Amino acid sequence: MNIHEYQAKEILRKYAVPVPDGHVVYNSNSARDWAKRLGEGPWIVKAQIHAGGRGKGGGVKLARTPDEVKRLAVEMIGMTLVTHQTGPEGKTVKRVLVEKACNIEKEYYLSFLVDRGTSQVTLMASAAGGMDIEEVAANTPEQIFFESIDPLIGLAPFQARKVAFKLGLGAAQVKQAVPLLMNIYKMFVEEDCSLLEINPLVLTKEGNLLCIDAKLNFDDNALFRHRVIRDMRDYDEEDPNEIEASQYDLSYIALDGNIGCLVNGAGLAMATMDIIKHYGGEPANFLDVGGGATIERVTEAFKIILSDAKVKGILVNIFGGIMKCDIIATGVIEAAKQVGVKVPLVVRLEGTNVAKGKKLLAESGLNIVSADGMTEAAEKIVKAVQAAA
Ligand code: GDP
Ligand code: MN
Repeated sequence: MNIHEYQAKEILRKYAVPVPDGHVVYNSNSARDWAKRLGEGPWIVKAQIHAGGRGKGGGVKLARTPDEVKRLAVEMIGMTLVTHQTGPEGKTVKRVLVEKACNIEKEYYLSFLVDRGTSQVTLMASAAGGMDIEEVAANTPEQIFFESIDPLIGLAPFQARKVAFKLGLGAAQVKQAVPLLMNIYKMFVEEDCSLLEINPLVLTKEGNLLCIDAKLNFDDNALFRHRVIRDMRDYDEEDPNEIEASQYDLSYIALDGNIGCLVNGAGLAMATMDIIKHYGGEPANFLDVGGGATIERVTEAFKIILSDAKVKGILVNIFGGIMKCDIIATGVIEAAKQVGVKVPLVVRLEGTNVAKGKKLLAESGLNIVSADGMTEAAEKIVKAVQAAA
C-alpha cells in the first residue's frame, strides 16, 4: 500500500526523523490559515498525489506570502497533474501540503528497500540527489552506493557513519546522519515498510539535514497489525478494479492489453499471459481467483474483467484441483447473466468436475468457444479478438 507524502512525513516525525513543519489541507482558505500558523514564510505548496515528478509538472511551488499560498492552493486543488509517473491522463489533486520552505545547500538521495537478492533491507544512497535516480543508475551507477543490513543486528552505527562519509558530509552532519539513518531503519522494520525513498534529503544552508520529500510503501500482508496506517489508504489514488478485486480477495492487476484473463493459480495465470503474448495478443490483466473461490467470487472476478472497457475478449483458463470446474462455470454463467458478455469468450476447463462444468456451459445458451488445452485456448482467443478488430 502507498500513502501520501504528508502521511509519510507524519510517521517519520514520530520516529524523530527531521522533516519540515507543515500541514495537509483540502481547501485554499485553510491553506492560507495554515501558512500563518506555521510562522514565517516562505512556504512550499505541494500537490499530494501518489506519484513523483511533481516538481517538474507544476505540483511543487514556492510562496512568499500567505495570500500567495492561498492562490497556489486554488490553482492546485482540483487540477489534473501530469508527471512522468502518472501516465498521460494525470491525477486529480485533492489535497495539498503547506510546508515551511527551507534553504537548500545540497540535495542527496536516500532509500531503504527490501532486497530479495540478499533477503535483507538495503540502504541506497547517493550524493546525486534531487534528480531521477533511474537516470543516475543508468548513466553514473558509481554515484550510488549500497549498504545491506543484517536483520539480526540492525543498522550498525559504523554502517550509518560509512554511508554519511560516502555522501561527503562534514563532521557536524555525520553526527546528524547517524541517528537519522538509524531511526529510519527502526521505522522501516517496526512499521513493516517495503520501500522508503527520500529524494531529496537536503543539507540546509544552516547546516541541518532535512527530509523534504518522502515516499513510503507498506507490505500489504502486514497491514492487519497497523490500524493507523491502514486508515491512511486513499482509495482515490487506486485503480477501481483493483479495489473491487481486493475486497473479494482476488489477486488482480490491471494491464494495458485487451484480452481479459480469468485463471486459477498465480503460476497458471502468469503462463496464460505468456501464451497469449506468444500468439500475438496482449493480456488486459493478471487475475488469480485462488484455490477455494466461491461462485460469488468467480462472478465478481468476471464482472471486474468485463467492466474494463479495453477488454475485447476473455480467456478463462482453469485447471481444477481444489477449484472445481462447475463452480467456475456457474460463476461465469451468473456474471454473464448479470452484465452480459458482448466480447468473444474462450473457456478451457480441465480437472475436477470438468464434465459437469462443460455441460453447464454448453446448456447455458451463452456464446462460448470451448478449447482443449492452453495452446488451443490462447490461439482461439487471439484470433477471435483480431477478427473482431
Ligand atoms: P517531486 O518532484 O514529486 O519529487 O517533489 P519534491 O518534494 O522532491 O520537490 C521537487 C523539488 O522541489 C526538490 O527537489 C527541491 O529542489 C524543490 N523543493 C522542495 N521543497 C523545497 C523547499 O523547501 N525549498 C526549496 N528551495 N526547494 C524545495
Ligand atoms: Mn522528490
